[in-house]
Amino acid sequence: MIVYLSQEELDAFASGEAESQCGYAYEWEGEDVVHLHTQPLAHAFGRVSKCFFSKAAPIVSFLNDVLWCVFVGGDGPQVFVKTDNELQRVDSQMIPSKENLYSRSKGILEVGILEKKHVAVIGLGSFGSQIAIELAKAGVGEFSLVDFDRVELHNLARHTCFIKDLGRLKTDAIEESILGKNPYTKIHKYPLDISKNNQRLEEIVCCADLVICATDNNPSRFALSQALVDFQKVGIFGRAFTRAEGGDVFIYHPGQACYSCLVGNIGVVHEEITDEVSARQTGIIPAYVSAQDADAMVQVGLSADIEPICNMMIKLALVELSRGEASGISCLEDELVYNYYLWANRRERKFSNWHILPGAGPMPTIMRWYGANISRRDDCAVCSKDEILLDTGDEFEELLQSF
Ligand SMILES: [Zn+2]
Repeated sequence: MIVYLSQEELDAFASGEAESQCGYAYEWEGEDVVHLHTQPLAHAFGRVSKCFFSKAAPIVSFLNDVLWCVFVGGDGPQVFVKTDNELQRVDSQMIPSKENLYSRSKGILEVGILEKKHVAVIGLGSFGSQIAIELAKAGVGEFSLVDFDRVELHNLARHTCFIKDLGRLKTDAIEESILGKNPYTKIHKYPLDISKNNQRLEEIVCCADLVICATDNNPSRFALSQALVDFQKVGIFGRAFTRAEGGDVFIYHPGQACYSCLVGNIGVVHEEITDEVSARQTGIIPAYVSAQDADAMVQVGLSADIEPICNMMIKLALVELSRGEASGISCLEDELVYNYYLWANRRERKFSNWHILPGAGPMPTIMRWYGANISRRDDCAVCSKDEILLDTGDEFEELLQSF
């Protein structure tokens, strides 16, 4: 039998006034694994039964329906299980407390820095869900999760959620995933449509250190872009092109080119359509197109084609969050210096003329990142108040023109 206890909860119980209290035993039935908690988990798993925590000696008479008992005090906690009306001592292991949770990763990522960071993730689809969970794994301590959508069948293949999550709000499902990685994360949930709640969007952006812009349509990206410019916040945009043949990532820094400048410079690219309802709302699928034809227009790429684009967004986010601090990821500050990155998965459509990987030399190929600096536009409707222009990455001017 494998038994886990929570150090954080035991410390709280040991320092509290109560001599005993009831808790919860979460058991993976048939697997001989049980987790004993003084507090109920936000989202329970396995079979749940009662557990008894006590500071007294292990002579407490068990209640009839209590199988597990934890005695706290002396040389550390002792766990007993009731079998045939007798107490049998079993070994236990500890889920570390907050300050020790990431001790193994210290030196790789500066958890102390990331723990104080607040990231807003707008859109919890295949991009946003994965990025939120990866940033939590890296140690980011606070999240605002924004998405009004629920988990549906067509989401599952490329999403972090499971069949058991069908019907749930994505904000609830991703909260559970984040807390499963780091139970000490602070999470604010906003199951709302930001394009209809501009004031709330501004509040969310205003409170965040960094905004991940992972919605699937341009109107919401423009609304986000405006809020980022207004509140001088860094934002990272990412998207996939048709059937995820490729994708791009854009990072906005206050005072530099905004998302609207990007669209002004490279034009609106043909984006991947993954959801009929939102595609109809935004006009990508016209209202008069039949459901059957709309179905044919909803084309999605492989989850593996989304991964590289998510990965770049995550790396950019970590660089941004730990900028100026000594950390294991600092060396990337010298590499990820562009504000626009382009990725191709396949030699298809707009990438069909790209060179094959072997012997490509300076020619663009699939599966490599290409960076460029997008300059601000004087005629940008969002950010044209200031007149600061960036150096343009000349080498990719031609590449960008192809869009
Ligand atoms: Zn602009």
